[in-house]
Amino acid sequence: MSALQSISGKSHSAVAETYDVVVVGAGFAGMYMLHRLRGLGLAVRVYEQGGDVGGTWYWNRYPGARCDVESMQYSYSFSDELQQEWDWSERYAPQPEILKYANHVADRFNLRPDIQLNTRVDRASFDETANMWSVITSDGKSVTAKYVVLATGCLSNARMPDIKGLSDFKGRVYHTGHWPHEPVDFTGQRVALIGTGSSGIQSVPVIAEQANHLTVFQRTANFSIPARNAPLTSEEREAFRAKYPEIRRFAREEARNGIYTDMPDRGALDDGDNERRARYESRWARGGLTFMSVYNNLALDKAANDTAADFVRAKIAEIVKNPQTAKLLQPNNHPIGSKRICVDTDYFATFNRPNVTLVDIRSDPIEEILPNAVRTRAKDYEVDALVLATGFDAMTGSVAKIDIGGRNGQTLNQKWAEGPKTYLGLMSAGFPNLFIITGPGSPSVLSNMIVSIEQHVDWITDCIAYMRDRGLDSMEAQKNAEDNWVAHVNEVAHTTLYPQANSWYMGANIPGKPQIFMPYIGGVGAYRQICNNVAAKGYEGFAMTAAEQPQKIAASS
Ligand code: NAP
Repeated sequence: MSALQSISGKSHSAVAETYDVVVVGAGFAGMYMLHRLRGLGLAVRVYEQGGDVGGTWYWNRYPGARCDVESMQYSYSFSDELQQEWDWSERYAPQPEILKYANHVADRFNLRPDIQLNTRVDRASFDETANMWSVITSDGKSVTAKYVVLATGCLSNARMPDIKGLSDFKGRVYHTGHWPHEPVDFTGQRVALIGTGSSGIQSVPVIAEQANHLTVFQRTANFSIPARNAPLTSEEREAFRAKYPEIRRFAREEARNGIYTDMPDRGALDDGDNERRARYESRWARGGLTFMSVYNNLALDKAANDTAADFVRAKIAEIVKNPQTAKLLQPNNHPIGSKRICVDTDYFATFNRPNVTLVDIRSDPIEEILPNAVRTRAKDYEVDALVLATGFDAMTGSVAKIDIGGRNGQTLNQKWAEGPKTYLGLMSAGFPNLFIITGPGSPSVLSNMIVSIEQHVDWITDCIAYMRDRGLDSMEAQKNAEDNWVAHVNEVAHTTLYPQANSWYMGANIPGKPQIFMPYIGGVGAYRQICNNVAAKGYEGFAMTAAEQPQKIAASS
């Protein structure tokens, strides 16, 4: 790195207690943030609580873990060499391969020297006099930084269920979001799995193949579409690579969810029964998340949505041989897609195996965990191991774990006590120079995360360069801009069917958490345009103040 002068006066390689930017988290967001900020010649320190890079893909090692966005799209686009050279093996890469990719990126861009592993950020407080953040880490150290970027992930705070007796269970207890690093072998064991969201649905077929018996405790049946996973041929990879410029452009600008796919040109009720069925059959045969893109009104119109939900329910009844089990597996309390739709490999067919039992805990609730069994109201199920696929304190959980103090001694947890409030999902008023990547109020979890991560990182990088080039010292969301944005996010959500489900999007999976639809559902293209317009208007809605003694400005590299 050349001797570019940074904001703090330190070059990025200097061993210093003062940084230009502290980044929290070394998943896909934190790594790319580091890469871009280094490009500005800034001194950056990344703290990562895990033992290596990769974030979600470092922690979620459960059997069957894969991304539900196709690998050729769930990958960085910022480096053409990287996307042309990296070979994905399957349509949906398994977790170890995604983790290998994360490690490859860390090495390829020489990111590791600025990442401190096995270190949590416990506290960050803003010093209003110096316009600096003071950051305290779990190794007892304190550093200061001009900016803090939270790249803490949206689904990174695994949630243990509050079930009586859980801590008395004598066998091993595993959470899918915090899976051990050593191999787990269920051979010969009786396993109980609680939770049937994406993680449960992916792991059930794989655990069932190994375990002596698997009992699945289901509270809410979920819609799931077959993944149709398969090895990628070199021809398929090459065809994708040749089209990458268009695929990436489309994902950023046109696709609502950041995924390249055919766009629907009509609503579900515009077709007659036969035509509609043929379209659903064709998408079912193709498989994957884009099932919801068959028609343009499935998330908006309940009658339209019912046609897709009925189609999937009929498929479940076709696959599952025992009619009573099939009925229990048919979702009936939320519109399809209003909870994150799942993508599976043989999930429903797994319930045809003689060694798999489904227990409906809505009609027969779990009362407690005994040292050797799960006790429902009706029966004790003796088991050797427990798998908790019970999800995450999503979107705000990992931010809330850090004690963040802003202006006037207010903490972010106090400010967000009734639900997260941000401007564009990027900043929260009262917390200057604190950015959040894919925060609540941005498309984030409703999109291909890497598309949204890259957009936020690029925007933040441009913003920091803008401030540096003008000798600006602090930036903060204005309260009225934030209030208007929060109202807009809420208003758009309520034009859809999403708020009808008790989902983690709504915070409904965490007892006591305020129920507010957290992500922005306006689509990644529209959202990007809004962010670009805000920047083009000199960061409209943000207050920027000049340093009392403007720093010498470094040229961007
Ligand atoms: P989740 O969708 O929140 O599912 C948690 C499951 O546990 C639900 O079935 C829930 O039931 C159940 N549950 C929670 N607490 C319970 C309790 N006390 N007793 C009984 N059941 C309980 O979590 P997840 O499956 O880990 O997925 C979270 C998100 O991560 C996904 O929606 C997706 O965005 C992402 N993810 C993606 C992939 C992928 O890319 N393939 C894989 C895994 C996860 P209720 O529904 O009744 O609350």
